[in-house]
Amino acid sequence: RADCKVQIAPPREVHDRLQGSKESKEKQDPPFDWLAFWHLLKPQLHNFLLAVASALVVSLVNVQVPILLGEVVNVVAKFTREAAREGRNFMQEIYAPSIKLVKCYVVQAVFTFSYITFLTRMGERMADDLRHQLFNSFLKQDIAFYDRHKTGELVNRLTADVQDFKSSFKMCISQGMRSITQIIGCGVSIYFISPQLAGVTGLLVPLIIASGTALGSLLRSLSRQAQHQVAVATGVADECLSNMRTVRAFAMEEEETRLFTQEVDRSRQLNEALGTGIGIFQAGSNLFLNGIVMGILFAGGHLIATNEMQAGDLMSFLVASQTIQKSLAQLGIMFGTYVRGTSAGARVFEFINLTPEIPVKGGKIIPYHSLMGNIEFRNVSFAYPTRPDQEVLNNFNLRIPAGRMVALVGASGGGKSTVAQLLERFYDVVRGSITIDGEDLRTLDPAWLRGRVVGFINQEPILFATTVMENIRYGFPAASDEEVIQAAKTANAHDFIESFPDGYNTVVGERGVSVSGGQKQRIAIARALLKNPRILVLDEATSALDAESEAVVQEALSRTVEGRTVLVIAHRLSTIQNANIIAVMQHGRLVEIGTHEDLKKMGGIYADLIRQQQQEESANTDNT
Ligand code: ADP
Repeated sequence: RADCKVQIAPPREVHDRLQGSKESKEKQDPPFDWLAFWHLLKPQLHNFLLAVASALVVSLVNVQVPILLGEVVNVVAKFTREAAREGRNFMQEIYAPSIKLVKCYVVQAVFTFSYITFLTRMGERMADDLRHQLFNSFLKQDIAFYDRHKTGELVNRLTADVQDFKSSFKMCISQGMRSITQIIGCGVSIYFISPQLAGVTGLLVPLIIASGTALGSLLRSLSRQAQHQVAVATGVADECLSNMRTVRAFAMEEEETRLFTQEVDRSRQLNEALGTGIGIFQAGSNLFLNGIVMGILFAGGHLIATNEMQAGDLMSFLVASQTIQKSLAQLGIMFGTYVRGTSAGARVFEFINLTPEIPVKGGKIIPYHSLMGNIEFRNVSFAYPTRPDQEVLNNFNLRIPAGRMVALVGASGGGKSTVAQLLERFYDVVRGSITIDGEDLRTLDPAWLRGRVVGFINQEPILFATTVMENIRYGFPAASDEEVIQAAKTANAHDFIESFPDGYNTVVGERGVSVSGGQKQRIAIARALLKNPRILVLDEATSALDAESEAVVQEALSRTVEGRTVLVIAHRLSTIQNANIIAVMQHGRLVEIGTHEDLKKMGGIYADLIRQQQQEESANTDNT
């Protein structure tokens, strides 16, 4: 039913809501948790230090290379001019500088390999750790958390955000180390090669930084907008495609196409603007940097002509100053990477650090033999945490004696399913209490409560994409094959399971055989039976079935409920007439309670509901 509520919302509203939530999310990125980061890094500290040390060696070698290249060129240049004449041995002179250069290249290769290896190892292990912690934290969160956050958002944190954080962190270390060392090292080198030339070039550095930063931040903001817009367009498509039946039923295809086109167009415009910006940036900086090269060549040539400099030194100078320029550009890019990485990391840590209000386990356990299954709701008031102002239950009182069946009826939205969810302790009551055999639900171990005491069969049972056997065993993982088969027999499921191609080993779900609604229900009943629960909650278990399947499911259910405390929530009044007690709910309150006969005689709300349903049924029969 929750789905229906979302689906009937007109697409325009859905879309606005979607955009709104994304924007508010962007604005409220939590601060980066450095302590959590340190805890994540600590186990990888050795890889981290090895990576940093190797990256440092590579950078220092990179600083050496231009100087050594210059030495080699100097020898070469000398021999082109005077070698043959003076009879000097080229091989002898070139030997020392080239061996130094070769050694440098080898060291560079070895340490490049080692820093990439250690960095990758560190990054992957940290990402693995993060995913593990995050998933673990997700599974512990309150059901209210899942009311607040969409699955897509959570999956995104688990995949894209972790990925972003990892690659940004790796990049900051490798590039950051390299850029900074190279800027300092090459800066020192060019100063020693030619203080005059270095001075002039140095004057240009602030100009490069200033213009690069300004243009860079403009482009980054454009790119963020474009990315956001792509996400909005994807969101529209996602919402539409996953609710295709509703879209078709309201003949909204054209409207949806228009919406999607509009968003895609907007994202194209932004991306085009971004492309133009990048074009200008690239062209401009190329022109500028090449201008610097020309300038250095010109000024250097002048110095060579006046014998103040050698050709090789000019070459070293050029290479070193280019390295500085490249490193500065890298630092600019790195700043963006740093911002992206820390905000992705902050989003991941935010959810890892979140503690649920209702723990998933821990607390009192009632020993199996003394567990009776008496349930009592006493003065329960409740509002969903996402809508604290709307009181869904209001001083609700209900006793379900052990071994009895109580049916909750009433108009939709009256709070029936909420009662069932509170019994599972998906949420805690706001006021009042729920007790099982006199013990407050809040003192009991939730894992024991859900895993062993309360069985839950709802109207849309979920099967996982695995075998029938495993799907039933989900109710009680320790069960043997025989126990599973026995449960399936009681649930009227054995025969149809046996008729599947691989029997109990048949895979169901998206890529396996498809099962009908009634079959799904019976698998779900077998699953619930397997844990042999004292208390059974049936949330409209048969409302989605045709008459024939309903009869089979009903038969399975009547066997299932024997000897247990049962709470049934049903719209079909016909299916619950043999409940021991019928409780009628309206606006979150209990308004009538008694047997079917009592309530009919009383002529109140229940009698009205019965009359209404009879009218509907006869109208349906007339139509058919
Ligand atoms: P019923 O089962 O009688 O149809 P529900 O218990 O499903 O009624 O719903 C009672 C009220 O609580 C409704 O107004 C519904 O909109 C609201 N509600 C149900 N589930 C949630 C939820 N997860 N978050 C917020 N409100 C909810």
